[in-house]
Order: sequence, then structure tokens, then C-alpha cells
Amino acid sequence: MKDLLGREVNLGEKRLWLLDMDGTIYMENRIFDGTLALLERIRQRGGRYVFITNNSSKSVTDYLRKVRAMGIPAEEENFFTSAQAAVLLLRENYPGAKVYCQGTESLVRELRQGGIDVTTRVEPVDLVLTGFDLELTSEKLRKTCQILTEQKQAAYYATNPDLVCPVSFGYVPDCGSMSIMIRNATGREPIYIGKPQPTMIRIVMEKYGCTPEQCVVVGDRVYTDIASGFHAGVDTIGVLSGEATLEDFQNTDTPPTWLFRNVREIWNALG
Ligand SMILES: [Mg+2]
Repeated sequence: MKDLLGREVNLGEKRLWLLDMDGTIYMENRIFDGTLALLERIRQRGGRYVFITNNSSKSVTDYLRKVRAMGIPAEEENFFTSAQAAVLLLRENYPGAKVYCQGTESLVRELRQGGIDVTTRVEPVDLVLTGFDLELTSEKLRKTCQILTEQKQAAYYATNPDLVCPVSFGYVPDCGSMSIMIRNATGREPIYIGKPQPTMIRIVMEKYGCTPEQCVVVGDRVYTDIASGFHAGVDTIGVLSGEATLEDFQNTDTPPTWLFRNVREIWNALG
């Protein structure tokens, strides 16, 4: 079995499948042909799948509702979001820190449930965290800029560097673009938590006791999905059903191990 670029495909060893969602297994609310078949086959072969997403605007509960409505079998443990990664990172590296958050109500709730001391007001803080904020207002931007300008000692993190988020008609600005607006106003640049950092991949591998050889990352973006797997030393599969084109996958420093048109072709390759 060969991939689109004629490379021999060997997925027999893979036990842990780390799948991107938007552009990989569905587009907005439309599930792709082959998604259910692929997930079923992974399970039949004794494997496990975890949906890894940079999108911090939705909580795991929101995602569960969304994918179950599409008929995708999933429990909480099948998800790992950049918001969950943020909670783990803050708990580990900044215990007890006061955190100003610019994000959705859902992100603020998730941080608080994770034991993080969160404020959305202008006050002295240890750290600023911004997420993909679908409820963004000028007032929120003003507060974030004020804190970042007046409190230079406060650390600054953002959940994900994605520039755009795919929707039915094209794209809307994502967290990376919001960070650029804030940088233009304050001169400050965040440290990003989600993909392409290998952090999320490593945490999930450790959780399930899998080696990099037993793991594979699947995604439609070179600069986040594929790069995160590349940096974690894990095989990756690029798909052409989302953002990246064939050229994008070929002209990069972090190329995917294998390339397929869509999840149906991966199902086929898994045999
Ligand atoms: Mg995607």
C-alpha cells in the first residue's frame, strides 16, 4: 500500500491515533465520508483515538455534544484541547498564579474548574492567557492591552497560534490573528501552548503509556498538526480535506510521513 506520494505505508504498529478534528474528520458540522469507518477500524484493531484540538473556544463537554450529534462514538477521555493543556501547564509551572484570561466564557469556566485563579478584570496579575475568543469585544481587547502594557512582568501565553479557523464559507480569524492585533498595540508576543508545540502530543502519549513508534498524528495543517507530531518524533499523516494543499505539504521543513486525500483513504490503508 502506497500513499499519494508513492511512499510505502505501514500503520500496523499504531495503537494511539491523535486526530485533528476540523478539516480532518469533519468540516464545521458536516462529517466526512470515511470518518466513522476509520474510527471503527482503529477500535477493532485494539487501538485508541484521541481528538487533539487547538481550539480553546469550546470545552470538552461542548465537543462531546458536537461529535455525538454526528454519530461519532466518544467519551471525555477521547479529547485533549489546548485549554486542557493550558490548565496542566499553569498548574505545573505557575502554581497559585493569578491569571487574566481573554477568552470565551467556556474557557474561563474550564480554567476555574481546573483550579486556576482567573480574573477577567484589570487588576494585578502574574500571567495573561488569551484563547480563540468567539465572544471578543473591543472592551476585552482594551483590558488585555492595558494589562500587557502596564504589567510588563506578567507572563503572556496564548492557547494556539492558528491564524484562521475554517468555517462553511471560508475562514474567520483565530487566536494567532488576535495575537497579532495585540502585538501591534502592545509590542508583546505570547508563548503558544497548542500545536505545533509537541507538548499536547507528549502528554497524551505519556497518559496511555505509548511509545512514539506506536503513535500517529493525523491532520490537515502543516504548521500546526504535522509540525507538532514532527517535533514530538511521531509519524504523521497529512490529509487534503482541509486547509493545506499538496504544495503546502511538499514545501515545508516539517513534512508529513504519509499523505492521503482524506480519512477514507487512511481507512483503506489501514486494511
Ligand atoms: Mg484542522
